[in-house]
Order: sequence, then C-alpha cells, then structure tokens
Amino acid sequence: MNGTPMADLIVVGGGLHGCSAALHAAKRGLSVIVIEKDNAGRHASGVNAGGVRRLGRNYAEVPISVRSMEIWHRIGDLVDDDCGFQRCPQIKVAETEAELETLEKRAADLRELGFTHEVIVDQQELRRLLPAVAPHCVGGLASLDDGFAIPYNTTFAFQRKARTLGVQFFEKTRVEKVRRDGNDWHVDTSAGTFIGRNLLNCAGAWAGEIARQLGEHAPIEAIAPMMIVTARMKRFCDAVVGGCGRPLSFKQAENGTVIIGGGRRGYPDPKTNKSEMRFSQLRYSAETAIGIFPIMKSATIVRSWAGIEGRMPDDIPVIGPSSTHENAFHAFGFSAHGFQLGPAVGELMAELIATGHTNAPIAPFSITRFAHS
Ligand SMILES: Cc1cc2nc3c(=O)[nH]c(=O)nc-3n(C[C@H](O)[C@H](O)[C@H](O)COP(=O)(O)OP(=O)(O)OC[C@H]3O[C@@H](n4cnc5c(N)ncnc54)[C@H](O)[C@@H]3O)c2cc1C
Repeated sequence: MNGTPMADLIVVGGGLHGCSAALHAAKRGLSVIVIEKDNAGRHASGVNAGGVRRLGRNYAEVPISVRSMEIWHRIGDLVDDDCGFQRCPQIKVAETEAELETLEKRAADLRELGFTHEVIVDQQELRRLLPAVAPHCVGGLASLDDGFAIPYNTTFAFQRKARTLGVQFFEKTRVEKVRRDGNDWHVDTSAGTFIGRNLLNCAGAWAGEIARQLGEHAPIEAIAPMMIVTARMKRFCDAVVGGCGRPLSFKQAENGTVIIGGGRRGYPDPKTNKSEMRFSQLRYSAETAIGIFPIMKSATIVRSWAGIEGRMPDDIPVIGPSSTHENAFHAFGFSAHGFQLGPAVGELMAELIATGHTNAPIAPFSITRFAHS
C-alpha cells in the first residue's frame, strides 16, 4: 500500500450488510473503505437460502423488513441488477388446527400493529397456492408479495454498485485491531493500518471480537445452518414454504431443483472458516419436506452445504451505534434471517452514520441489551 488509506467510513466485513451499508453511505457522499478477510460474499451472504421474506419475522424486525421489501421490489433501481429476485408468496403451512390458531393469532397481532401483509389462507386456498401440499395440511399464513433471490449474485451486485460509487474494497485483508486515536479510528490489518472517521462492524459471526475491542459485550454464537439441493423435478411449487410446527424453508428453483433448509444446523468452526454437515439432523429437514410435500419421496439429494452465521441469544440482530465510543456502529448477528434485511439495514446505517440520526425503529436492537449478561 502507498501511504495510509483513509476514508470517512471503514466497514469491517464484506457480506451483504457491509456492502449494502457501504453502497448507501457512498450514495450520501461519504468516502468508504470495506475490509474483508476473505472475499465479499464468501460467508453467510453468499451461501444462504435466498429467502426474501417479511413472513414470520420477530415483531421488532417487521418495520425494517417491510422497508427492505419495498427496496427488493425495485432492486434493479438500487444496484443495476435484478439479483435473481423473484416475487412469489411465502407461506407457513399449518399441519394441525392448533397450529392454524397460532397463525391466526399472529395475523391478528400484526394487524393491531398496523401491518396487513400476512394473511390467513384456508385449506382450499392453500391447495390452490400449493397443489402438491399433503392432504392433512389445514391452512397457512401467507405473505403474498415476498419472494426469493440468488444470494451470491445479490452480494456481488451490491459490491459492484458500491465500487462504481467509489467504495474501495480490500479483500483477503483481516482486521486485527481497532483503536481510537484522537478523532479517528485506526484499523490495523494484515495489510497495514487504515484510518477512518467512522467505523462500522459488519463482521457477521466474527463480530463479537470487534465489539470486544470496543469494550462491548456481544454474546454472539457461530452457527452453521444447513441446506440441501435435489435433482431437478417436474414443476410443482411456486411459493417459498415454511412449516409452523416444525422448521422448514423450501422452494423450487426455476431449473426444477428443490432447495431445502430451515433450522437444522451443522458444526461451525469460525476460526478455520470451515463448517461441517450433521447428517443426523439433515434427516429431519428431509422428513419435514416429505411430510408437507409427499412428492418429495421421489427426490434425490445432489448437494448439501452449511454456512457460518452469527446468532444472538434472542435471535434478533445488533443494529445501531456503539454504546462506548462515538463514531462506531454495529450491524451484525442476523441469526439466520438477515439476507432480506440487507437493503434496508444498509440504508438506515448510512443515514445514522452520515447524519447522527435515523427514524428507523432500532431501539430493540441496541447492543446495550447484553451489557449485564
Ligand atoms: C445456510 C444459510 C441459509 C440462510 N437463509 C436465509 C434466508 O433464506 N433468508 C434470510 O433472510 N437470511 C438467511 N440466512 C441468513 C443470512 O445469510 C445472513 O443473516 C446474512 O447474510 C448476514 O450478512 P452479514 O453481512 O452480516 O454476514 P456475512 O455474510 O457473514 O459477512 C460478514 C463478513 O465479515 C468478514 N469478517 C469477519 N471478521 C473480519 C475481520 N476481522 N476482518 C475482515 N473481515 C472480517 C467475514 O469474512 C464475512 O465475509 C441464511 C444463512 C445461512 C448460513
């Protein structure tokens, strides 16, 4: 490196959240450097299930998820790429009357909060939307204008667009230490020191260490959600399907392959970047898929993988300013559902960093909630 690279904002981590915040900050006129220890999209952001859902979110996440979906519906306007985004219903299937009652209560609660995107579908409507669903399924909860996208295309599109706006990416560069020097952040890396006026921690499963260096406690756990892909099957499903009583994320890609995930986890090793499958657990995902779609009995698994993701104890992310330092910020710990949130979280983080303020309701995501844990 010639001289010390400097910027208004240094982002640690080139996943979707780092790339999105960088892009939005550049749109606001900030100079931005993103530092990534591997390659952009190498971890959760590039290997996830691609589910773009408002359905079933923690109530605290709903307003940000709704804003993100507005951006997803016009994603090409932001990143000059469609990210493989396809609008389709996301449906949570009830296998029993008790499950349907739980879903009805959720839909009613959301309506009280002013959100109408989740609607109950009865058994007849469920069969219309999902002709191959098992006969015992009694109904479901649907968010009809959700969808899915291609994860690595999406992250690369955000990175590409950020680059065209002047964002500098330093890949294969590991942040070792962050330290305050006067008004600036000095970021020591495997490729030398960078200087930034602001610092944003988007380090995914590794973000706890950056928080620790800021003197903040973030009890993040590395997890390894697992995925399976089948051989091509005749078209039978035009929605993204989840379970109510048992975890599932299920969709059929355009080429006919079926992509199954949801809840079951392998073994993560964030130190070595490796994750291992846990085949005894994978069986449950396959059984759930067959339970809800009997046609899956004839499916052949051709590929499986697990990605490394950061999970918080309460399953919602840390989003907001540092509690110990000025001009330091966090967006991490998306607990296996941060892909859909990427566009809006980047937007609100850029607003917060550029103006010191955001109207987005981020109080529930404060890092201070773990201060005494
Ligand atoms: C298998 C799987 C399926 C999923 N399915 C869905 C889904 O369907 N829908 C959904 O909404 N979400 C889903 N998710 C969750 C989603 O992928 C994540 O929440 C999201 O991608 C998190 O993005 P991120 O930028 O915070 O983290 P990451 O993509 O992990 O990026 C963090 C980056 O920081 C870098 N980094 C860490 N430490 C340092 C350091 N010291 N120096 C430099 N760089 C560093 C890492 O190398 C990494 O690239 C899934 C996740 C997985 C693993």
